[in-house]
Amino acid sequence: MSEQCSRRKNCRLCNSEKLCQCFKLESTPPANSFIKKEDILKEQERFPLEIYFCENCFHVQILDIVDPKILFENYVYVSGTSPIFVKHFEDYADYILKNFPQTENSLIIDIGSNDGTLLQFFKQKGHKVVGIDPAKEICSKANDQGIETLNGFFNFEYSKKIKENYGKAGIITANNVFAHVDDLTDFVSGIKQLLSNDGIFVFEVSYLADVIDNLLFDTIYHEHLSYHSVISLVSFFNKNGMELIEANRVETHGGSLRCIVKLKDGKYDIKESVSNCINLEKKLGLNELDTYRKFFNRLEMKKNELQKLFEKLKRDKKTIIGFGAPAKATTFMYQFCINEKIIDCIIDDSPLKQGLFSPGMHIPVYSSEKIYEKKPDYIIILAWNFSQSIMKKHDKFKNNGGHFIIPLPKLEVY
Ligand SMILES: [Zn+2]
Repeated sequence: MSEQCSRRKNCRLCNSEKLCQCFKLESTPPANSFIKKEDILKEQERFPLEIYFCENCFHVQILDIVDPKILFENYVYVSGTSPIFVKHFEDYADYILKNFPQTENSLIIDIGSNDGTLLQFFKQKGHKVVGIDPAKEICSKANDQGIETLNGFFNFEYSKKIKENYGKAGIITANNVFAHVDDLTDFVSGIKQLLSNDGIFVFEVSYLADVIDNLLFDTIYHEHLSYHSVISLVSFFNKNGMELIEANRVETHGGSLRCIVKLKDGKYDIKESVSNCINLEKKLGLNELDTYRKFFNRLEMKKNELQKLFEKLKRDKKTIIGFGAPAKATTFMYQFCINEKIIDCIIDDSPLKQGLFSPGMHIPVYSSEKIYEKKPDYIIILAWNFSQSIMKKHDKFKNNGGHFIIPLPKLEVY
């Protein structure tokens, strides 16, 4: 195995070695490793994507860990570029401050703060804010915009330095980070050390219930080491001297959980949302291995359906392009064999991705002007959870005789 990838042998949450393989996706390069034109002849290394289930605590995870430096230091995702996420974070800050009021000037720390989108809303309300993010460029952008942001990977060691320099925090947030961390026990010790007695730790993660129920298999990529359920989180936090007090379902990324955690002797009560999620998870069978095997069979059926459609379109000499180049499109394209033989290019609205080439397959990424220049017969929406808004924005393409293919949750052609 490559030096860039290591493999753990026990459960990330409970350390048990009773792990069973649920299924195996196609191996891919890191999902965000878009490359420049001068590198398109270089082959990119692909890493395994195998999903394991812990028979002891039911945690679902991948065990192959790609070096975080490769994954996150040149990260191109910027939250402030998407109006949907900006609104999401504004509501998020409102919810937290309303339900967990803070004294003026209290410190709020965001781990994986990206360009500071969430922190700016806390700052506007008069709180002292500090962000931490491993991506160098995004950090300097956040600092330029007046959000103090430290460049680094958060862990127990790092938390000591933060405490020395800034003191304890009333609120610590970490969104779409908790699934990225291999050593969660160390991460949570860092949180505990930084949190004031009545403080709360809030994090958002993709929710395993949504992944399974809505076939969000493309959220599986190397950045996401864990696919969290409330059942396994409750026992994890208990073991680590903390308590999960809320588990609210939110719409981000096709279905996420906003979890709120306090120190064991902290002052807030446990809300009903926690037991509601546990009941749902039992109903969906998230605590049974067989559920994941069935999930994979469903996935294979969807793949066959889409392959048949492509074969027909190619026989009829139709041209197809892709729309949307989020990280998850990499898993999606590899698993469903959407390669350079199927699509000529990918459209993406992020200027940071335009002009680059897709991970591994090296398909060029352009701005949406290319649709009207190239006039393809079909656009397959790779960012399929945004299908409705993409189709609405480009109804001109459809009015001019073009068609949209929505691959999931149900294959549809418009
Ligand atoms: Zn476990």
